[in-house]
Amino acid sequence: MEYTSTIGLEIHTQLATKSKMFCRCNNDAEDKAPNTVVCPLCMGFPGTLPVTNKQAVEWGTKVALALGCKINLFQRFDRKNYFYPDLPKGYQISQFFFPVGENGKLLIDYLADDKRTKKEFTVGITRLHLEEDAGKSIHASNATLVDFNRCGTPLMEIVTEPDITSPEEARIFMQELQRLVRLMGVSHADMEKGHLRVDANISVRPKGQKELGTKVEVKNLNSFKYLEQALKFEIDRQIKILESGGVVEQETRGWDSKTNTSISQRSKEGSIDYRYFPEPDLPPVVLTEAEVNSWKKDLTMLPRELREKSEKFKLSYDRVTELQGKDALLGFVKLMEQDSSLDPKAVANWPNADLAFYQWIMKQEPTSAAIKQVYTAINSGVKLTDAIKQIRTISVGELESTIKTVLSENAQAVAKHQAGETKIIGFLIGQVMNKTKGSADPDQIKDMVSRLLTK
Ligand SMILES: [Zn+2]
Repeated sequence: MEYTSTIGLEIHTQLATKSKMFCRCNNDAEDKAPNTVVCPLCMGFPGTLPVTNKQAVEWGTKVALALGCKINLFQRFDRKNYFYPDLPKGYQISQFFFPVGENGKLLIDYLADDKRTKKEFTVGITRLHLEEDAGKSIHASNATLVDFNRCGTPLMEIVTEPDITSPEEARIFMQELQRLVRLMGVSHADMEKGHLRVDANISVRPKGQKELGTKVEVKNLNSFKYLEQALKFEIDRQIKILESGGVVEQETRGWDSKTNTSISQRSKEGSIDYRYFPEPDLPPVVLTEAEVNSWKKDLTMLPRELREKSEKFKLSYDRVTELQGKDALLGFVKLMEQDSSLDPKAVANWPNADLAFYQWIMKQEPTSAAIKQVYTAINSGVKLTDAIKQIRTISVGELESTIKTVLSENAQAVAKHQAGETKIIGFLIGQVMNKTKGSADPDQIKDMVSRLLTK
């Protein structure tokens, strides 16, 4: 029998604001000693009063706009009550009743495994809301230690509709989301560092059956690879249960990357009652239509838009995907938009440069070795004019005349080459290299010498 799998994701993204969500603590607690980036507020001391981070509201709303959500002009914080050692207040400030945005969708195109076919799928976005992160529990051999540095870091929670049909699509959705928040500059979105965390809900059902199967939640998948592996494993596990006449139990599972298996953590029979109620210490966030519209206008180019524009500039889709993988698509599009007479293929080779760099290439026709040197220098912070001064560079024209001189000075070698002794080309290339003293690219010399020899 064939089976259909249904996947929905819940994603937590840390916002890279300067201060935390409700206090003025530094939000960059990474690599700091435990419990040093804290204050009475994020430590949950009684009598403290939170203040909402304006930047977090703006960024959360912008991401919701980028995901096509309907924005709630009235957003309110609620208390989510539960006890855990790394949550000193005994509740988390979240948004339950009035989130930032709802009912969005994200259309994603991607290159299929065959490296040729362009595929597309759409994922509905149920909601996006803001909340605060909890601290970290560190389980040592004989004790559990708590680090509160992460307490109060702004978090954006994104919940998708169960529109994802394969582990591959789940991974591609997460990669697209990572690109999106990075391009917008709102999160570092490094999965290994926990800036971007994902829980996946997954169920399988026989193909053609309308009613969804029982869903299992796999928690805390901290890399794209584990997400894909865990979902593949879960699909197989659930199918095996159904094939043997069993019943899939609704539960929460974790992924063990050492054994490549998912492990049951708790059954989900009665859902936890978090006793949500409006946060009495915070006024609601009230936005105006005009404010939201100006943020919408302000949105940076999003990943899909970048891909579309790159294709319009005549870059092949596999090359677009390749540049995207190197985080170089924005640089490419910006340059092409500045001067559409530039050669897109050349720009795609050196996308992390500015217009002046290309104008230098077009005017001076430097060798590829020189371009490489200057490109490396400007990407390590050297000014273009200084980088050009630093290199010894000769133009294609100069290289050609140098080679012509070498060929006329070594008429005997040229004659041998003509007589079929092709190996002698190495000697001629060596002569050119001596004369150009490393200012020309060896491959380019080789190409040009063989071309001039066959003329
Ligand atoms: Zn604080």
